[in-house]
Amino acid sequence: MLETARQYRCSTLRPTELVDDLLARIRSGSLNAFITVDEAGAMRDAGKAEKALKQGSGDTLTGIPVAVKDNICTRGIKTTCASKILANFVPTYDATVVERLRNRGAIIIGKTNLDEFAMGSTTTTSTFGPAKNPWDETRTPGGSSGGSAAAVAAGLCAGALGSDTGGSIRQPASFCGITGLKPTYGSVSRFGLVAFASSLDQIGPMARTARDTAVLYDAIKGHDPSDSTSVPRGYPAIDLKSPDMNGIRIGVPDEFFAEGLSPEVALSVRRGISTFEGLGARIIPISLPYIRYGVAVYYIIATAEASSNLARYDGVRYGVRKEGSGDLTDMYMETRAQGFGAEVKRRIMLGTYALSAGYYDAYYKKASQVRVLISQEFEAAFTRCDLIAGPTAPVCAFGLDEMMDDPLSIYLLDIYTIPANLAGLPALSLPCGFSGEGMPVGMQLIAPHFREDTLLGAGMAFQDHTGFHEVRP
Ligand code: GLN
Repeated sequence: MLETARQYRCSTLRPTELVDDLLARIRSGSLNAFITVDEAGAMRDAGKAEKALKQGSGDTLTGIPVAVKDNICTRGIKTTCASKILANFVPTYDATVVERLRNRGAIIIGKTNLDEFAMGSTTTTSTFGPAKNPWDETRTPGGSSGGSAAAVAAGLCAGALGSDTGGSIRQPASFCGITGLKPTYGSVSRFGLVAFASSLDQIGPMARTARDTAVLYDAIKGHDPSDSTSVPRGYPAIDLKSPDMNGIRIGVPDEFFAEGLSPEVALSVRRGISTFEGLGARIIPISLPYIRYGVAVYYIIATAEASSNLARYDGVRYGVRKEGSGDLTDMYMETRAQGFGAEVKRRIMLGTYALSAGYYDAYYKKASQVRVLISQEFEAAFTRCDLIAGPTAPVCAFGLDEMMDDPLSIYLLDIYTIPANLAGLPALSLPCGFSGEGMPVGMQLIAPHFREDTLLGAGMAFQDHTGFHEVRP
């Protein structure tokens, strides 16, 4: 992205040229990374950007092609959430993040594939078929923002937006060898993000490098009165010079290197942590015992909120309607029975159960209490360290047909990403190595609330001294 901006400035590349080339590559590719490509809109905006650059009025994002996950609303462009129920939904407004990118001159090239309503880790629950991993097309790019990750890794866009409720930016970033940031809850507006689990959902940027990720984050962050959970405070620009890592304290929790972690992933992440040590960081062993309950807590809270959020798809207000055999209730039931896929139905049922009278205290309330304990545990840890490091996911990208009949084993893969969502903390996934089979490995860094500067700075310092982010599929 920064490199493209530089080429634009020295006139060795023009936005229309780049967009034309990307559109041709998207058309002829087989990754299924996009659900909708806005060819006409992208070419129109490339023309505008070209003019602005010629007149010298452009900024870093002018003419930069960005892909947007298809659960983020785009005015006049279909936003399907990879679900049959929203297959024809065309929003009448742009999400705040999209509006902010457009105002900076970025080009929205298309809408990327995801798991239906962002519920999943593989994109295989997409009604449009799975996206594929550019490193090996028989494997998943991860999920749910798998289309965004695949598109960035394959160079089909300069950067992308994803959403992360339990790991959906970081895990696909790690599976595709790119950089992905889940910002602090409340730092990036959720206005126009189709809600999955509102207390966990967060939009964030994905790009090849931590610097490009920082540029996108800078463009989308900040208070938005249209989102009641958006936090009004100062959001200083991220410094793109990498900081001195000398004396930075990096906490490494035992629990992040426990049973179930692939030895290859463990090795690359340990080496990544040593790289930081080589740069002068102090490594501090810590313990976060409550995070072992993270997956259980998440799959109660997320499904409970999803069951409530998805009640709005009733065939009346949004999307597709299927007439039933008789009355209004039949129409509701038929619409939802035909409109939602199996995983979404599973979540709605689990969530409804967890919220029902008699079970609420045992499940939802208990989960909310443990969530507080997890937050407090992080707070205590951050008195002893500036960042926490570990793996992003316990494994590398796996085959598209693996584990699909076993939802629980897929849920368990979210073990390292979920805690940051439960505590609302910012977290970054960075490429830190490759498996024996040549698949990328991701390292996760977690920072205190609103310390995206520390997080992205550490990412920049790491990438100034390693080359994993430069390897192309
Ligand atoms: N894999 C997790 C889930 O299935 C996370 C999804 C997400 O972050 N959107 O819920």
